[in-house]
Amino acid sequence: MTMTPIALENRYAAHNYHPLPVTLTRGEGAFLWDTAGRRYIDMMGAYSAASHGHCHPGIIAALTAQANRLAVPSRAYYSDNLGAFLKELCDVTGLDAALPMNTGAEAVETAIKAARRYGYRVKGIARDRAEIIVADGNFHGRTTTIVGFSSEAAYRDGFGPFTPGFRVVPFGDLAAMERAIRPETAAVLIEPIQGEAGIIVPPDGYLAGVRRLCDAHGVVMILDEVQSGLGRTGAWFAFEHEGIRPDGLILGKALGGGVLPVSAFVGRRELMDVFTPGSHGSTFGGNPLAAAVGLAALAIIREEGLVERSRELGAHMIKRVGAMRNPAIKDVRGRGLWVGVEIDPRFASARTVCELLMAKGVLSKETHDTVVRLAPPLVIARHDLDEALDRFDEVVSNLARTPRQPVAA
Ligand code: PMP
Repeated sequence: MTMTPIALENRYAAHNYHPLPVTLTRGEGAFLWDTAGRRYIDMMGAYSAASHGHCHPGIIAALTAQANRLAVPSRAYYSDNLGAFLKELCDVTGLDAALPMNTGAEAVETAIKAARRYGYRVKGIARDRAEIIVADGNFHGRTTTIVGFSSEAAYRDGFGPFTPGFRVVPFGDLAAMERAIRPETAAVLIEPIQGEAGIIVPPDGYLAGVRRLCDAHGVVMILDEVQSGLGRTGAWFAFEHEGIRPDGLILGKALGGGVLPVSAFVGRRELMDVFTPGSHGSTFGGNPLAAAVGLAALAIIREEGLVERSRELGAHMIKRVGAMRNPAIKDVRGRGLWVGVEIDPRFASARTVCELLMAKGVLSKETHDTVVRLAPPLVIARHDLDEALDRFDEVVSNLARTPRQPVAA
């Protein structure tokens, strides 16, 4: 007897995800199709990895042309497009040098290593005493070091012992951050808007305040823009909203154009100069295939005006959802095409809302038990966005009429 793809996955996969019960087989732009040929509007955008839309022709052309030429020679040699990719990264961020990796978590690990070595070699912190200040509710990936400073029990439970050297402060609280700074503080590492925590936007002036504190105390300011970067918030980078620039910037997800894992740690020259041959690396990081896709990903964001689209359509989306005035909606927050809707648990879990949306041809995903994220590919057409928001409005309106509605069959 042949097993369905869902049964096969459930039988043979580790159960480290809890997917919605839909089997996807094709994507184009802001649409996804399941194996029965049903079309869905993608309101998730693969956690920002699919910002360019699925199978963007420009990305696929760059990917296939490069794949036919040279893909992975390793960094034992120079390759003919890595320098151009890193230059683009520096130009677009206003920073000086970049270190390419693959996943977001690897780029975060790179940032941690840079900050610690800089702390010892430049700031003169005593050996193995460097501290990095992080925020409560952070999400930076899944390595043992990174989950070690997570405040989420589910991410940590059973995976210790953890790496020391991290100090957790409340997100958005400058006074708490200032109190946490000590002579051993090498860096601050935060998301400018906390994605996985539920799209938590800090108070206005927070990032500028962190910048001031870092300058005053000689602390390296590192922003993790793996999810918020590359247009998601209606700016190339979320730090631009406060007119500042970090010393180190972590990018991933959309940098891979929706087809490959491409990440990078980008920073000031002094910070990047702590790396010497042998001190860090990755077999796949910065390979020609990744560089070609990364170059295309940056060019397409610029050429197609995706940052402006995110700003305009995002303002439209948050206004529409904010105007829904529905008792099942507790809070609406976000920036650009990145909105979190907090569902009152007396009406339904966020998971239930996502299942009801799925039944209406809209794919989203809950974060924690209460937040539904609305984060479509930045290429989404306005009428498709409106259609998805109409369906969302119907789902929450039905919930408001019948609290604790069971999941539709
Ligand atoms: N940083 C942030 C802010 C993220 O949102 C994520 C992934 N959700 C990561 C890092 C980790 O990226 P990856 O899954 O590619 O390791």
